[in-house]
Amino acid sequence: MFGYFYDTEGFPARWNCGTAWAEEPWLGWTHVVADLMTAAAYTAIPLLLIVVLRRVRHVPAPHVVTLFAVFILACGTVHLIDAIIFWWPIYRLSAVAKVTTAAASVMTVIAASMHWPKLLLYRSPEELQAEVELRTRQLEETNQRLGLALEAGAMGTWDWDLDTGNVWFDETQQGLIGLAGHEDPVTGEPVVKASDFFELVAADHRGPLSEAIDAAIHRGEPYNHEFLVTTPQGTDRWLSGRGRVVYEDGRPRRVVGVNFDITRQKRSQEELAKARREAEAASLAKSRFLANTSHEIRTPLTAILGCAEVLARDPKDSDTAATADLIQRQGRLLQRLLSDVLDLSKIEAGRLTVHRKGVCDVPALLEDVRSLMQPLATEKGLDFRIDPNRAPLPYLQTDPIRLRQVLVNLLSNAIKYTEAGSVEMMVATRRDGEPSVVFTVSDTGIGIAPEQQQAVFEAFHQVQAGPAADELAHSLNEGVGLGLAISAKLARLLGGEIAVDSQPGRGSAFRLRLPLVVPSREKIESANRRLQEATGPSPAASGEAVRRGKLLVAEDTASIQHLLKRILARHAEELCFVQDGASALSQISAAKEAGRPFDVLLLDMNMPVMSGYEAARRLRDAGETLPIIALTASAMVGDRERCLEAGCTEYVAKPIDWGLLESAVQASLASRAPL
Ligand code: ADP
Repeated sequence: MFGYFYDTEGFPARWNCGTAWAEEPWLGWTHVVADLMTAAAYTAIPLLLIVVLRRVRHVPAPHVVTLFAVFILACGTVHLIDAIIFWWPIYRLSAVAKVTTAAASVMTVIAASMHWPKLLLYRSPEELQAEVELRTRQLEETNQRLGLALEAGAMGTWDWDLDTGNVWFDETQQGLIGLAGHEDPVTGEPVVKASDFFELVAADHRGPLSEAIDAAIHRGEPYNHEFLVTTPQGTDRWLSGRGRVVYEDGRPRRVVGVNFDITRQKRSQEELAKARREAEAASLAKSRFLANTSHEIRTPLTAILGCAEVLARDPKDSDTAATADLIQRQGRLLQRLLSDVLDLSKIEAGRLTVHRKGVCDVPALLEDVRSLMQPLATEKGLDFRIDPNRAPLPYLQTDPIRLRQVLVNLLSNAIKYTEAGSVEMMVATRRDGEPSVVFTVSDTGIGIAPEQQQAVFEAFHQVQAGPAADELAHSLNEGVGLGLAISAKLARLLGGEIAVDSQPGRGSAFRLRLPLVVPSREKIESANRRLQEATGPSPAASGEAVRRGKLLVAEDTASIQHLLKRILARHAEELCFVQDGASALSQISAAKEAGRPFDVLLLDMNMPVMSGYEAARRLRDAGETLPIIALTASAMVGDRERCLEAGCTEYVAKPIDWGLLESAVQASLASRAPL
């Protein structure tokens, strides 16, 4: 088959084509020599290109270069054949060489045009050089900025080689730890042995520091640690270190990071903590002082109010009645002031616990509040409305006692500051946004000026609203400016807030918003059970037959004993007094042995020799089921619970509300011997 291409039959050698070649042979030789030189050059170029392709990496579009080499080689072959043809007329082979050249040239053009855009991006060595210089300059600037930042932040850099155990420190770091280091034989840079550095770390900080570094190296945790060092010059310095582990071939090789001086921060933190401890101690002292003072005030106040009560029950004339009434009113105001001051100081000390997870029976609460407030409103001739049937939800998860306290406060203010018209409370739920329940207490009273509306929530703030307000508040002999401050704080503790909307001369609307959380069925059931257990048979209403029994009173204050004797006379078949808990115990067991046990024990909780708490506990431990009414002057939050825990069945705070005490005695007698 190849013979066809070498077959020259019918073709003359070029020297034989015409006569001119023989006449001008130099012309033929010119063709031959030129073609041979071109062929030689066209063979050398591809060879050079192959060498370049093999040696130089990243040659742009190497296959275009390869095609170009083939194209040039084919051109050389065509020129070689053109020279040979003068003697050997291989025109067929020449055609093959030309077709190959044509194909290679077209393919080269196509490939080159396809890669043209890419080739255009290639930069000249000069351009590359310029770019490298620019980048180097930028890097130097960045390094300089980093250096300045490190210097400004007093940050020292370190680089710990885990293989050699040498740590390289920059100048700042050397200054921070006071170590200059020695020259590394390999890098020539100043380094410090890691063990020398650890020597400087405070003894009790070394363990945690190595743990933090270990955790970073072996568990990949971020290294972020604070520790104390003592420099060789004897300066104590707190350092905060941040760093990261550098891995090489999957193995931790170095830990690189920064340290900065946080000594001042630490010192101020310590000072702050100290100041805080001192402030807490002062606040505790204040709370104790308030609790003690209130205890001291309550005891004589009980006597004063009791005397007034005795006077008021059987006044000799209208003058005495008015005086007794005045004493009672002022006494009650003092009593309210005491409990408000206590509440506020507790809240401010963050020691007032609210039971936000409690269950509140909303209709029952509204009815309770209504029955308490109605008489006050009626007395002033005000139209008063709270419709428990309109309560939009049966149960709410919140602290019912604190909610009641806030509502009573808002309502008594509304009544207090309204001369004529109405006071009403509405309850509504809002489900747009965060679900909430809103209690709105509105009145048609004196109102509050816009600039005073925020200030009324501050402690001891009373609006100077002119003679009308002064007269109103004065005529009621009430108001110390704490109610709203306490209510607002309680609302916040309950997760809500109080807002006011008011127009002077037209009235006010106080809105208490609480989060709307409905308690679970189990919670409601257990709350109801507890309530039933706690509320025994209801005390005898006035007019009903009064139960009488054998009563023992353990009380050490003579004035209170005197009052109790008078108040309890109509409830007692027999009334005995003792001065302390221990005597109460012996009286009770003696009466039992004699076959005439006591029916009720009234127990002052704070007595000499043996406290009421101790006495109640001992009685219960001995299996005694006698009802015990706790009398206590420390009406702080949680006292009731403490008394009940000790084994008391009822709790009456001093100054004693005599009506309440009588109800408690009646309830206790009823539980002993039902009629
Ligand atoms: P106070 O014991 O004086 O009532 P509060 O903290 O309850 O203390 O109220 C602070 C002040 O806010 C009151 O002195 C009164 O001037 C004003 N205030 C509170 N409630 C009302 C109201 N419903 N109408 C008008 N003024 C009110």
